[in-house]
Amino acid sequence: MDSRRPGGSSSAGGRPGGGGRPGGGRPGGGPGGKGRFMRKRVCRFCKNEDVKIDYKDAKALRPYITERGRIMPSRITGTCAKHQRAISTAIKRARNIALIPYTTISMG
Ligand SMILES: [Zn+2]
Repeated sequence: MDSRRPGGSSSAGGRPGGGGRPGGGRPGGGPGGKGRFMRKRVCRFCKNEDVKIDYKDAKALRPYITERGRIMPSRITGTCAKHQRAISTAIKRARNIALIPYTTISMG
């Protein structure tokens, strides 16, 4: 059984100039370029072991919450993943006992 098609027009995969993207190639794709917020990228809790993450201490958690009541990303706070998780857990607990609002309703 010869399944070859006699009409030889099926080979239409011939693009001229293969893969030549204009303006391709990103120059220097290194991590972290723009210094918007020059925060210290040292985890506060790793640096200072005396600082404990306590969900009952709303004041301590405040810097890690945005004005809208959301948890600050570790990028901004500079907290390491380990402690960022501890903070988010603490914040969630604090929310649960109404120490921290879920969202800030007051607008103006
Ligand atoms: Zn840490």
